[in-house]
Amino acid sequence: MVLPLIHHPAFDAQFDAAHRFPMSKFTRLAEMLVADGLVPDGWHVPAPALASWLELAHDPRYVEAVMTQRVDAATEKAIGFKVDERVALRSRCATGGTLLAARLALDGGLACNTAGGSHHAARDGGAGFSVFNDVAVAASVLLADGDVGRVLVFDCDVHQGDGTANIFADDPLVFTLSIHGENNYPTQKARSDLDVPLPDRTVDAAYLAILPPLLERALREAKPDIVFYNAGVDPHADDRLGRLSMSDAGLAERDRRVIGFFRERGIPVAGVIGGGYSRDIEALARRHSILHRTAAEFV
Ligand SMILES: [Zn+2]
Repeated sequence: MVLPLIHHPAFDAQFDAAHRFPMSKFTRLAEMLVADGLVPDGWHVPAPALASWLELAHDPRYVEAVMTQRVDAATEKAIGFKVDERVALRSRCATGGTLLAARLALDGGLACNTAGGSHHAARDGGAGFSVFNDVAVAASVLLADGDVGRVLVFDCDVHQGDGTANIFADDPLVFTLSIHGENNYPTQKARSDLDVPLPDRTVDAAYLAILPPLLERALREAKPDIVFYNAGVDPHADDRLGRLSMSDAGLAERDRRVIGFFRERGIPVAGVIGGGYSRDIEALARRHSILHRTAAEFV
């Protein structure tokens, strides 16, 4: 069997190379996965998310503002870029991609997006390079359709999944877990169902040691029918924004333990790439591909 991988050319909104958000990583990541032989039968190409899906996790006025490129200046400032037509389409496609990954995971056990993990977007608006909270939208669609009864969001991006935590704060069906740098953005942390703040310069061994009890606890408390795994690579030592000190091998082992834990128990896992920030697009795309290469070990 081949690991289902999701990609859409619109994931890359083609920012200027000097922009602090490394947009070209999405194109380069897709090229690398093809070159590595991980996409022998072609990509699963998502449909752009419909307003009716987006409104399950976001205020309809905000959805409308993105769709018509009328997001207010304060929200665009919080997001970190202008929401033009390309950005709106990329955000809808990335969200459609995470929903498609989830549906394919429900079918075959495991699937990964080549985007997704925009976890700072809250119900009323985007923030922190996040326009739509793809995982929150996908989880909400599956719950609304009755495809799943309970969801676990296992978020290993180095920044707290504050948007996801806020969207599901009062929802007993979605368990949010965030392992993040305690001194990282956002300065004002939200309250996830389980938060694990880590000190600056945390290394592989310390990070990996906390996973087994956390995985057990998440399973026990969330009782998930599906897991959304945010495999952000910004805990890496070379990340511009990360503050932690993990290696490529450490990230691969993290992915292996998280995916392996749930797959061994027959629980579907949908992977999203989360954050990663470097001016070296080649190294960054290679680092994001750790998720897909590691996930491929389990099919
Ligand atoms: Zn991040």
